Amino acid sequence: EALRNLLLGKIRDVPDHPKPGVLFKDITPLLADPEAFTALTDALAGLAEERGATKVVGLEARGFILAAPVAVRAGIGFVPVRKAGKLPGATLSQAYELEYGGAEIEIHAEDLDPGDRVLVIDDVLATGGTAEAALRLIRRAGAQVAGVAVLMELGFLPGRTRLEAELGGAPLDVL
Ligand code: 5GP
Repeated sequence: EALRNLLLGKIRDVPDHPKPGVLFKDITPLLADPEAFTALTDALAGLAEERGATKVVGLEARGFILAAPVAVRAGIGFVPVRKAGKLPGATLSQAYELEYGGAEIEIHAEDLDPGDRVLVIDDVLATGGTAEAALRLIRRAGAQVAGVAVLMELGFLPGRTRLEAELGGAPLDVL
């Protein structure tokens, strides 16, 4: 609870970003605060260990910032999931539906081994579409899903429900 208050107290609500009507949760004040960023990293690294994760996947772009120090702290690998067209090597691609139109994300398949247990990390779970597609990529790469961990869940969106099937019983942790 103290951790939650420390972290959530450092998130700034930005009205009408990136478009009118959206209240954007901005994590940059948290990142700029060494106490809060360290506490977040330690909490996520603890989760990674609890879940028996051997890799963390960070979702572009804020998921990279959160997941990379977790990998170092937990002594496990970091694997990026990027928007289509960014990764230079052989990729697996996954298309998914968004509120308006679609999107596509990719992973370097060779960065995951069949024995890997993967924890997906992102800052915000909104509709759940991105995390769901990332879980598909992990399974298609032949690895196991250890869970999804996010800093925040936008409770008015059905992200949790959308993720359920693809989680296949693995936990969704919200700090
Ligand atoms: P979803 O696929 O769950 O709808 O969207 C999740 C993605 O959009 C995440 O990668 C997340 O970073 C980003 N996102 C959506 N809404 C917000 C927000 O209010 N604040 C931040 N920081 N990211 C958001």
